[in-house]
Amino acid sequence: MSRPIQVMKFGGTSVGDAKRIRNAATIAAEASKQRSVVVVVSAMSGVTNTLISAAGKAATGNEAAAEALAKALQTKHRETIEALISDGEQRRELLDEIDVLIDRAANYCRGCALLGELSPRALDVIAGSGERICARIAAAVLRQMGYRGVAFDATDLIVTDEVHGGARPLAGPTREKTRAALLPLIEGGGIPVVTGYIAATAKGVPTTLGRGGSDFSATILGAALDAEDVIIWTDVNGVQTADPRMVPEAVTLDEVSYAEAGELAFFGAKVLHPMTLRPVVDSGIPVWIRNSFEPHKAGTKITQTARPTPHGVKAVTATRDVAMIAVAGPGIIGVPDIAARIFAASASVRANIVMISQSSSQDNICFVVQAADAVRTEKALRDALHEDVRHHDLEHVKVNRNVAIVAAVGEKMCGTPGIAGRVFSTMGNEGVNIIAIAQGSSEYNISFLVESSGMEKAVKALHRAFGLGQVESGEKASTAAQVTSKTA
Ligand code: ASP
Ligand code: MG
Repeated sequence: MSRPIQVMKFGGTSVGDAKRIRNAATIAAEASKQRSVVVVVSAMSGVTNTLISAAGKAATGNEAAAEALAKALQTKHRETIEALISDGEQRRELLDEIDVLIDRAANYCRGCALLGELSPRALDVIAGSGERICARIAAAVLRQMGYRGVAFDATDLIVTDEVHGGARPLAGPTREKTRAALLPLIEGGGIPVVTGYIAATAKGVPTTLGRGGSDFSATILGAALDAEDVIIWTDVNGVQTADPRMVPEAVTLDEVSYAEAGELAFFGAKVLHPMTLRPVVDSGIPVWIRNSFEPHKAGTKITQTARPTPHGVKAVTATRDVAMIAVAGPGIIGVPDIAARIFAASASVRANIVMISQSSSQDNICFVVQAADAVRTEKALRDALHEDVRHHDLEHVKVNRNVAIVAAVGEKMCGTPGIAGRVFSTMGNEGVNIIAIAQGSSEYNISFLVESSGMEKAVKALHRAFGLGQVESGEKASTAAQVTSKTA
């Protein structure tokens, strides 16, 4: 009988320096005494940002960007390797290997500077270099500790479509490649250390899974390997009832369901890449969020059927990172294709729509996009609706960036009357004005839009109104510093 497999992913801050990498390797090594362990690593924190910003500078013709990048990466990783690897021979080998990877990233940047452009395909190659370096370092540390750590590039394991910058996995081919490459090592007692974030198309062209994508890598691999569970080691204690930077009384939830975690993934603390749970939902593989800085804590378990809380609402979440777009005017009343045209326009620029609301008077359709998508969505809409505005069928397309979404989330809210009433009377009592409201028919989430300045007050009041600080047995979430969930 082969041992159950545990996939564990370490995020950027959990491999942020030599000490953190040693800590991560120790956690993996300890776990490997009970189970077969597969490690997935992000780039060291800050590295992906450095790579992406160097690529952007290079694309404007800045030739010095490549040199500066090579230097920055060399300094950071050399220092780390020197602190970690004591054997001279091993160290030299590792340094040579990472020099090749750094050279390659810098060469791509030089190419961009020459061409004066940066294709999404080139950006994926450059952006994914940090994971390749980090996996090699972590594997070497495991070997130094006496384990058979072997680095793998996920470009050889995870097969995706061709959408650069946000590729989606193809389960069949991924399963085949992953099992063929990893199972022999796993069964022989070794520990694969796999790059997060990166993958490749069926033709072998490198892709990435989107920023923060290493979480997604971990569950993709977990599903492919029929893992017993997946652990996301990060720098927060798990999923919390609210962002503790806003609500000091927030506590860590012991358990949340896939659906609840999905609703929460987008907001606030950004604990998970939004796609993370997709690969494991069918097989029901549990995903744990745990804090690598406090590994003795249990963290949050995400499963199919998490225990509900008595009040229905499990967490309150919010974000200011959005903009509201309203299309209004008497001419849109009863026009059957107006909504189709609005959303075709926003889809044409790949805007991520987070919330939609239209009242039954129909003279105003309002939707919310991520702040980063606002400018191009507005332009696409103005182009698409140009004629309607000219004929005064449409009064305006308005963008308001001064808003925040607040959401109450919980699976047990479904079919429980009175929750919406409580949510909105709480806002009334606090004097927080509500601009728009949406509840999906899943009823897992009541979302509403407020002015940015009212967001914190709204979250605090809801957290209090639903008694969220006391319902869970989980320990109190502590300082603000620990919730800053940085991607690498
Ligand atoms: N290093 C990548 C990023 O910063 C992927 C990850 O950390 O999950 O987006
Ligand atoms: Mg992350």
